[in-house]
Amino acid sequence: MDSAKQEKYKQEIADLKIRLEEAEQLIDAIKAGEVDAFAVNNDNKSEIFTLQSGDYAYRVLVENFSEGAINITDDGLIVYSNKYFHELLRSPYENTVGNSIYHFIHPNSINSFTALLTKALEGKSKGEINLKAGQKSIPVYVSLTSLYPNLPTIGIIVTDLSEKKNNEKILAAKNLELENINRELASFSYVASHDLKEPLRKIQAFSKRILDVEKFSAKTEDYFQRIISAAERMQNLIESLLQFSKANTTELTFEAYDLNKIVEEAKSYLHENIIETQAIIETEHLPVINVVPIQFTQFITNLLDNSMKYSRPQVQPHIKISSKLIDGKKIDHSLADKQKKYHQINISDNGIGFEKQYANKIFELFQRLHGMNEYSGTGIGLAICKKIASNHNGFIIAEGTLGKGSTFSIFIPHE
Ligand code: ADP
Repeated sequence: MDSAKQEKYKQEIADLKIRLEEAEQLIDAIKAGEVDAFAVNNDNKSEIFTLQSGDYAYRVLVENFSEGAINITDDGLIVYSNKYFHELLRSPYENTVGNSIYHFIHPNSINSFTALLTKALEGKSKGEINLKAGQKSIPVYVSLTSLYPNLPTIGIIVTDLSEKKNNEKILAAKNLELENINRELASFSYVASHDLKEPLRKIQAFSKRILDVEKFSAKTEDYFQRIISAAERMQNLIESLLQFSKANTTELTFEAYDLNKIVEEAKSYLHENIIETQAIIETEHLPVINVVPIQFTQFITNLLDNSMKYSRPQVQPHIKISSKLIDGKKIDHSLADKQKKYHQINISDNGIGFEKQYANKIFELFQRLHGMNEYSGTGIGLAICKKIASNHNGFIIAEGTLGKGSTFSIFIPHE
């Protein structure tokens, strides 16, 4: 080959090298999303090639958004990963692309990821797994979508759950702390109330004994009587508080129980009262329901007791207990679940009733609508009923008409 020809070929090779370098730079720029259009010099004529603007926008979006995005083949080889993903793994791009996804999956998640991948080959799958970055485990939520037949790959969006899990941990720890404090408080009030009973019994017993053995002036005797009745009120209060703290702390063991039986048990507790007031208690269509029997008996006992206590003077108490199934949609109450059916159990009386405005207030602890001299009581009974209703995943409401009567209704989900 003559030297002129050699010179020409050398020149051509050098030109081709430059064009190859330019082409490589262009490809890198396209990959990095830095160019949207480029010009190619062909036979001294410039031609403009535009990248489809939609594709460009997507590429920039995927590259920059704050979720991991990767593309893998069906045997797990990573063919694309965005910036967020390799930053999440603290692994450079070169280590991520071309490597198997399994390299970055925590050993405890290998099986679940394989299951997700198998499912995704048929369409889509989602789930929580752990990735691994060095010694660290990163909880993530992955959403896999098969890109077949457009691309022979599976697209995966990866959401970092570290912060969420951390917050959950803090919340679980706080809840536990709160539960412990509650338990301590409940056992404190239980023990305190329980221990108060003994000295109180002594006050009552010795006051009575003094009155029995000594002769006092009418005034002194009256003072002693007041001591005895104050101690009696305190005893009632302590009993009610104990019941209230029990309703808060006892373990809830549910049983399918005949409501008729519960009413009979409540009636036997209130036997003397029923005889004294000559109350008529009617029952109608009472079902077998899933309840904590002791608590539900207490519930019915408290309501029957009130219906007799708050009866109108000279009017024989007439109490009706009935039950029906009702659609959650038809209950006008914030706690009613529209998807559920409920047992609605009504206890209605013909007593003194109350004004509408007190319908919620009477369920609060120590709330009473009457003075101690008119009706005895502690203002705890209905608070216990409300607690028992909530222990049964239900709620209680009251309706009253002054001078005519009241109806208390408990709603319990029908499973
Ligand atoms: P207590 O009966 O010890 O006062 P409750 O918590 O059982 O406490 O009841 C709270 C208040 O609700 C009562 O003081 C009374 O004013 C009112 N109440 C309860 N049941 C009835 C009823 N059946 N009829 C009219 N008012 C009632």
